[in-house]
Amino acid sequence: MKKNTLLLTLLILSTTVFAQTKPQETEYYNPQPAKVIPGDYSYTTAPSDAIILFDGKDISAWESQDGKEPQWNVKNGELLVQPGTGSIKTKQYFGDVQLHIEYKSPDPEKYSGQNRGNSGVFFQSKYEIQILDMDNNKTYVNGMAGSVYKQNPPLADAYTKNGEWQVYDIIWKSPVFGTNGKLEKPAMITVLFNGIVVQNNFILEGTTEYIGFPKYEAHGRLPLMLQDHGTSVAFRNIWVRELN
Ligand code: MG
Repeated sequence: MKKNTLLLTLLILSTTVFAQTKPQETEYYNPQPAKVIPGDYSYTTAPSDAIILFDGKDISAWESQDGKEPQWNVKNGELLVQPGTGSIKTKQYFGDVQLHIEYKSPDPEKYSGQNRGNSGVFFQSKYEIQILDMDNNKTYVNGMAGSVYKQNPPLADAYTKNGEWQVYDIIWKSPVFGTNGKLEKPAMITVLFNGIVVQNNFILEGTTEYIGFPKYEAHGRLPLMLQDHGTSVAFRNIWVRELN
């Protein structure tokens, strides 16, 4: 009885000590990735076998979280986050993909840190590559543009300027789970940001968590998701090539 009480006390204590309660516990500021000025990396057309997710006009590939017509705006060939209407997801479910997506940050003076032009690409709706305005904007390094959010900072800071299009080319390998739901192979990602490798076959520790640590839970193919984080980030030229 005494032994059991002691074990229970220890268990409660350790849970209290190790429980993650603040987002700051998984944010760090050093070392700073080196600033790299990109060369010419622009694309104008998608490859012939790509699935076009946004061509400047048509958003029929997307839906809101509850499966309705997305409330984001299409203007001048750009898809704009309509803050407060929620993240949008593809109707199609994906596994491994090559993704191309371009974004432009809004409102340079209006916000700072994580609130300046924040959005994100969520592979399989669970794993975020950060979208942020990095033009003269300080934040924790594992929350910079090009980071696997709260897991790995970018290898370089390749953001150019507010008002310019930022280009992501990303190779996503989804995690593999056994029939019992056990993780057999973690997810892996390679990210080029404005033509610069910022994630090089990074092995993910699990899902993106704002508070606490990443973890894996079995899943299959899932939609690609774009985040509404309260600012009107613009997107263009969104396409994927399926790799499995
Ligand atoms: Mg984000």
